[in-house]
Amino acid sequence: MDTVTQKGYAKINLGLDVLRKRQDGYHELRMIMQTVDIFDTVTITKTDEEGRIELTGGCTGLPLDEHNLIYKAARIMAEAYHLPGGMRIHLDKTIPMAAGMAGGSADAAATFLAINRLYELHLSKEELAKYGVKVGADVPYCIVGGTCLAEGIGEILTPLKQMNDIPVVIVKPAFDVSTGYVYGNLHADELKNHPDIDAQIAAIEASDYKKAASLMGNVLQNVTIAAYPELDSIKEQLRSLGSFGSMMSGSGPSVFGLFEEKSKAEEAAHKMQILWPDAFVCATKLISNCED
Ligand code: ATP
Repeated sequence: MDTVTQKGYAKINLGLDVLRKRQDGYHELRMIMQTVDIFDTVTITKTDEEGRIELTGGCTGLPLDEHNLIYKAARIMAEAYHLPGGMRIHLDKTIPMAAGMAGGSADAAATFLAINRLYELHLSKEELAKYGVKVGADVPYCIVGGTCLAEGIGEILTPLKQMNDIPVVIVKPAFDVSTGYVYGNLHADELKNHPDIDAQIAAIEASDYKKAASLMGNVLQNVTIAAYPELDSIKEQLRSLGSFGSMMSGSGPSVFGLFEEKSKAEEAAHKMQILWPDAFVCATKLISNCED
């Protein structure tokens, strides 16, 4: 086997709480993460050029050098396992960039999973996740996927009852938001309202999705929505179009809405596209379907 293709799936946050800022500058988080079925595709081919990692594809503005998270992931694995030869890696990018949907982390996760298959390393997802955290805090989750509680800086994962196939409308406004800017402007010690993550977990475990949606909260909205108040109106619009829960994902600016029926989600996305051209429908996805 000389080539392997692997999908890397995007995520949304159903809950995101920041507990405190640690001495090392990282934030201690409690997040409910959910895979959605939009993905990038990473194709890795073995080459004879010893030690060379060559990256192609992607999209405008995305670095194809050592700054790319795919490159970092491949380099870590090449060195850790003394992989022979080199790699040519092609990225087909669909996940919107700097959108709060962990696109870069999904690509890194796909790279770890692809290398595991290509070089027949037989590492478990948990073992891959230990390398993943060296690339980024969301990478371990993107390797594991599905409905998960993520704690620590995001790397301590507890799978929850899986929320499969719930229609989701995602609206990605035309501007990007840097995760660094949002965390840099968050005053974790001054947060007054924290989402009740434990109650939300209980609702998910009881498959009471309406209750889980009513408990959704994301403290990063304090920073991103203060800078871009139009995100609040996107949440409102999604609700008025039938969503049973809408919120900003991650550090934003993507806003998502959960729907009971796919046809209603499609109708809502269609209407949202008048004001927000980058509005689309996807669905929540199971861990077990994330293999290829
Ligand atoms: P998160 O939800 O984890 O905060 P995000 O969705 O907001 O992430 P990304 O799309 O992951 O943001 O990209 C953030 C930055 O990471 C970009 O500005 C980009 O330059 C850098 N980056 C490095 N590698 C990649 C990659 N493979 N795909 C996307 N972005 C990448």
